[in-house]
Amino acid sequence: MFIGHYGPAYAIKAVRPATPLWLFFIAVQIVDVAWAILVLLGLEKVRIVPGITASNPLDLYYMPYTHSLAAAAIWAVVATVLCKPLIGVRSWRAATWIGLAVFSHWVLDLLVHKPDLPLYDDTMKVGLGLWNLPAIALFLEALLLFGGMAMYLRRTTAINAVGRFGPPLFGVLMLAIQCYVFFGPPPPSPGAAAITALVAYVVFAVVALWLDRQRTHVAAVQPMDRAGRV
Ligand SMILES: [Zn+2]
Repeated sequence: MFIGHYGPAYAIKAVRPATPLWLFFIAVQIVDVAWAILVLLGLEKVRIVPGITASNPLDLYYMPYTHSLAAAAIWAVVATVLCKPLIGVRSWRAATWIGLAVFSHWVLDLLVHKPDLPLYDDTMKVGLGLWNLPAIALFLEALLLFGGMAMYLRRTTAINAVGRFGPPLFGVLMLAIQCYVFFGPPPPSPGAAAITALVAYVVFAVVALWLDRQRTHVAAVQPMDRAGRV
């Protein structure tokens, strides 16, 4: 899964407005960020096999440290514990939401991957395989992204035109990139796939940071409205 991972990021941001959106953008993809780095280091393995699924040419045959269920749970716990001292997340409740955002990655990957997600180490691999049904997989990615974004837009309000039109345009752009990933040419090499993923995740987080600053939480605006009327 790719853009659908940002659905939980937006949805959790709607619930935890004090935590910056970019942090959830990183959290939901931290498992893939680690995957890309470990692929570049040669510690996890992937090869390009066009046609191995109908929409994704990556044969993800060895990724026990990032995409096993056990590893995903550990990544989530580590993120929960470390985001307080490292990023200054203030409460354990906020930290727990970041941990849940991290874990959401594996749950959503389970829907689309072929059985290449180990339960632990490199064994007992699972995956429901929606990548073999590209139309349904694409619809699911869009539904998750725009569903989560709708929750976020309802709980925040734009302070300018960028804040009003930016998030939906950003969503359409992400959907276009998803279509290219699904139906465009396969990446030339595993390293290229890893670097492209890393760049995309960083750029998306930076755009989310920028766009989120063009909106404000609804609860913070309502008292000002009331004060204005008084
Ligand atoms: Zn993944």
